[in-house]
Amino acid sequence: MNYVSTRGGSFATGREGGAAFLDILLEGLAPDGGLAMPESYPEIDRDTLDVWRFLSYPELAFEVVRLFATDIPSRDLRGLVMNTYTAAAFGGHETTPMTSLAAYAPGVLLQGLSNGPTLAFKDLAMQLLGHLFEYALARTGEPLNIVGATSGDTGSAAEYALRGKRGIRVFMLSPLGRMSAFQTAQMFSLQDDNIHNLAVRGVFDDCQDLVKAISADADFKRAQSIGTVNSINWARVVAQVVYYFRGYFMATSNNDERVSFTVPSGNFGNICAGHIARMMGLPIERLVCATNENDVLDEFFRTGVYRVRSAAETHATSSPSMDISKASNFERFVFDLVGRDADALKALWRQVDVHGRFDLSSTGSFAEVRERYGFASGSCSHAERIAVIRDVHAATGHVVDPHTAVALKVAREQVRPGVPMVVLETARPAKFGETIREALGRDAPWPAGFEDLLERPQRVIELPADVDALKRYIVDVTSRSPA
Ligand SMILES: *Cc1c(COP(=O)(O)O)cnc(C)c1O
Repeated sequence: MNYVSTRGGSFATGREGGAAFLDILLEGLAPDGGLAMPESYPEIDRDTLDVWRFLSYPELAFEVVRLFATDIPSRDLRGLVMNTYTAAAFGGHETTPMTSLAAYAPGVLLQGLSNGPTLAFKDLAMQLLGHLFEYALARTGEPLNIVGATSGDTGSAAEYALRGKRGIRVFMLSPLGRMSAFQTAQMFSLQDDNIHNLAVRGVFDDCQDLVKAISADADFKRAQSIGTVNSINWARVVAQVVYYFRGYFMATSNNDERVSFTVPSGNFGNICAGHIARMMGLPIERLVCATNENDVLDEFFRTGVYRVRSAAETHATSSPSMDISKASNFERFVFDLVGRDADALKALWRQVDVHGRFDLSSTGSFAEVRERYGFASGSCSHAERIAVIRDVHAATGHVVDPHTAVALKVAREQVRPGVPMVVLETARPAKFGETIREALGRDAPWPAGFEDLLERPQRVIELPADVDALKRYIVDVTSRSPA
């Protein structure tokens, strides 16, 4: 499988032919600023679906990932995948269990994606990424210093995936005092030598600006072997394709049925994987994109206008992992939408650069968004999230987190008779205890294994929002100790 850039350029691989999976594994962006996409989607026929229906999650993951990672020998890849999706890491024999919420809304099911070590769906991709990074680095012998920014979920998922991994250090920036108590304790209590928690005196945007400044400094990047694990990483998207197949099989009894998914969306990474599963031939009826008050994506799917927001227009909500002003993976879908015409795509992104928006409302492409690609959307306010958490609890006894609540609100509006609607559960409620208390007047169920979490000793360095201070810290660490 070869990879192309959405902007039409090529990847620097140092040899003839296209870029393969391992070539793009560590790179976030193509040199031309585009995102990596497979040259074509593998097609899954009915006979293959009949076989896949009966595979375990790790076996299914191996079958899906191998189609995209053809440059990793099968034996090696099987080992990596089997070591990733273990019962120990994902808390039980079913990696993504399915629960009916019919008592809340007929036809609605909940697929649990937050059983990994940090209790958010990002573990499903990040845990595999950790194993893939270690594998790739062992082959080259190069060290890797990951620099990232987090508002909560990404940082802990990355740290738990990379802790103790040979040859890899993690420098994770978070806004001082802005994460939930649970998220803070989860990250800062890690005692591994290769994990560096840096609390920045600023907000999340300051953290992200620091990472961008480091990424833009090619000399520093090369000298310090800097990499990232952001949501545009292609391997993360591939890992997420797996649970759409799994969810489809669990929600149906045979491969003639169709299923819809509702996805709590921020950077469009999760639902982009659903789009890819559908393009591969999985019988998905509709993909419903659910947003919070930051409704860039909902607005596009309703009106055909994609208008990015400024930092000042980006609301801080009770579903913080979906507070985005522009959706970084959206470019992957738009690439397909414009018929994979890189020039057409570049023209749209030029409009975004100049006018902050593009408008497809009067083009054939916008009709295809619904008719050919099956997309629908909706959004959800804070008061509506609180009501959903309350109503779901009253009807089913289940406590859902505020991100999942966004999707449930929208799913209930979009579900149609005869087509199961699978809602992707993206985090456990204990991570967002403050909102659960507001909704239910009591604490979220505390997950097993985390009883003493808030009492564990914490390790964190405080830094000003200053790129030179960050660089000095990184150089100091890398010159002091071997990775
Ligand atoms: C990251 C995250 C999301 C958004 O996922 P995207 O892939 O960015 O669309 C939703 N919910 C939770 C809990 C998350 O951590």
